[in-house]
Amino acid sequence: MKIVTIPCLQDNFAYLLICKKTKEAAVVDPSEQAPVRKAVEQEGVKLTTILNTHHHWDHVGGNKELKALYPELTIYGHDSDRGRIPEQTEFLKNGDGVRFGEQSGSFLHNPGHTSGAITYVFGKTAFTGDTLFAGGCGRLFEGTPAQMYDSLNFNIGRLPDETELYFGHEYTEANLRFALTVEPGNAEIQKKLAAVTALRSSGAFSTPTTIAVERQTNPFLRCYSAEIHTTLKSKDPNHDLSEKNVFRTLRELKNHF
Ligand code: ZN
Ligand code: FE
Repeated sequence: MKIVTIPCLQDNFAYLLICKKTKEAAVVDPSEQAPVRKAVEQEGVKLTTILNTHHHWDHVGGNKELKALYPELTIYGHDSDRGRIPEQTEFLKNGDGVRFGEQSGSFLHNPGHTSGAITYVFGKTAFTGDTLFAGGCGRLFEGTPAQMYDSLNFNIGRLPDETELYFGHEYTEANLRFALTVEPGNAEIQKKLAAVTALRSSGAFSTPTTIAVERQTNPFLRCYSAEIHTTLKSKDPNHDLSEKNVFRTLRELKNHF
């Protein structure tokens, strides 16, 4: 499977997934129609499938026009997003598979950012939408901190270290700057921030990341960190240091960063 990153809108990423055997393609989270269509034409592939990670407009904004251009499109989303994802044709429930061309994948249900948020998994590649970003996570619009903690740490966090994670927005620099405010001595974060700053100033993107890198640099996967605990204790000496409470406070601090 070949993956083409398609920048959309201000800072969104859609991804074109190409089955090399059949030249059929799926697009993850088409924010808008035009850049997706351009990528499909450039790659000379047949777009058969849309994979939506959640219902937000900046992830489904191209669905309707793409469906008009390619009437046979199969459009996946979570079952609970019925009525919220335009033109949805497949309503994923636990255990269901995802396929296009000769590629078959699965999904993880990750409530938190939204109640129907999902991550698509194809082998050692995953598409996390607005659940996990490099160095951060999505805001909690429809879920609790505890749900998002589980989505990140138990669902996505269970994927093998080498899994490549393709996320929904280029927020990496700001995320890592926040990460350093709670874990200033983390050398991996310092190194990655320097690398991403250089990458961005050359016009490149920071997607994808890997599970291994996120375990070292993403505070929302590091709620056990002694240095993060010290930071939270310095703000509130009585802070409960259970991981879910640490997560809740980190998410609140990030909201105001
Ligand atoms: Zn979103
Ligand atoms: Fe988004």
